[in-house]
Amino acid sequence: MFDPRNGGDYADLIDESVKAMRASALTSERVVRALNANLNHQDGAKPQGHIPYGFQREYAMTKVKGKTAMRPVGQMPDPETAPLVIELFRRVKSGHSFLSIARDWDKRTITSRGGIPFSAQSLRAMCVRKAYIGKRVHREDGEVFEFDASWPVIADFPGSPMKPAAFVTLFKEVGNLLADPARQTVNPGAGKHEYTGALKCDVCSGPIKVSTKTTVPKYTCRDQGCVVINKEGVDRVVQGVVLGYLVREDVYAMVAPADGGAELEAVRSPLAAKRAELAELETAPRPQGARAKVAMLDMIDELEGEITELEERETRLTPGPSPLAELFDHGPDIEPRWKATPVEVKRQIAALLLSTDGPLGQVRVMRVADSESDAVTDRLRWVTTD
Ligand SMILES: [Zn+2]
Repeated sequence: MFDPRNGGDYADLIDESVKAMRASALTSERVVRALNANLNHQDGAKPQGHIPYGFQREYAMTKVKGKTAMRPVGQMPDPETAPLVIELFRRVKSGHSFLSIARDWDKRTITSRGGIPFSAQSLRAMCVRKAYIGKRVHREDGEVFEFDASWPVIADFPGSPMKPAAFVTLFKEVGNLLADPARQTVNPGAGKHEYTGALKCDVCSGPIKVSTKTTVPKYTCRDQGCVVINKEGVDRVVQGVVLGYLVREDVYAMVAPADGGAELEAVRSPLAAKRAELAELETAPRPQGARAKVAMLDMIDELEGEITELEERETRLTPGPSPLAELFDHGPDIEPRWKATPVEVKRQIAALLLSTDGPLGQVRVMRVADSESDAVTDRLRWVTTD
C-alpha cells in the first residue's frame, strides 16, 4: 500500500489509481444492470461519505472530464483497526453482549476516528454493515439493492487473523444471531420470569424470587423472606400497567439527547463548510510539482478526518429512536404481541419502565400488615424518585 504522504510513492499511486478505476468501472456496469437506474455517474462505485471503522480511504489523481483531480479511489482494510472489527464479530458470535464489548474497548482506549468511545448501539450497528463483507447497499424508492463493492472483505489484508471467506461466514452467523431475538444471549441465565428483575421487597429493599415450592407459584423476598405474594395476581396487575403504557403512542417518540439543540446547530454549520471545502479541493485542478501535490493530499486527509469527527458528533446529537421503540413496536394487538415477545426482551422493557427513575416506578411488595388490605393492588407500592 502506498503512503500518499511519501512523494516517492507517486508511480505506485498512479498505478493503483488505474487499477482502482478499472475496478470501479466494472462495478459501475454491475450497478447499472442491477439498478436499471441512473447510477452511472462518475462516483457510482467509489466509496463515498463515511468511512466504515476498520477501513482506510485511498486517494489518487484521476482524470474526470478532462480535468485531473484528487479523488477517493479505493477503500482498504486498515491493518491497525480491521483486526478489532474481526474481534467484535468473533466475540458477538461467542455470546458476548455489546455492552460488555463496549466497556472492554473503552478500557483499552479503543475509540472511533473522532476519539469517541464506541457505544453498545454503535457496535451493534457495525455488525450489520455489509461494507465489511465487500458489499455496497443502495436504497432507492424504498427498495434495497446490494452489489459487489470496489473494496475487499475487512479480513482481506496481509496478516489478517482470519481468511476472508471465513469472515463472510462469521458475518452471516452473527446476522442470524441478531435477527433471532430468542437466540440473543443478552444476559445468559438472567431468568425465565419477566418481572423478577423489576420487583423489590418493600421491607428490606432486597430482590424478589419466584418460589414454586407451593402449589401456586409465589413471589417471595429472596434473602430474608419478609414477604410472600401470589405471583399470578402480581403479574396481572403489573402487566396491566405496562401494557397501559405501551399502548400510548407518545412514548415511542424520538428522543433528543439532553445537550442537543444549540450544540447540534454548532456542529452542522462547520460540517457544511468543511464538506464544501473538501468538494472544492477534490475537483480542483492538479497542482504543479510533487510538493504541492503532497500538500494537497495532506489537506484532503485532514479535512476527511475533521468531517468524520463532526459527523460523529452530529450523529450523537441527532434525535434517535427512544430505547423503548427499539424493543417494542407501537401498534394494535398489543396483548398478543406482548405474549409473543421473548422473555429476555420483556425483562429489558420491564427494567426500562419499572425502576425508580423509569416512567412507572419500581414495584415494591409490602407485607399484608403494612397494607390497606390483602388485595394485590393494595400490597404493591410504585416508587419513583422525584
Ligand atoms: Zn425482604
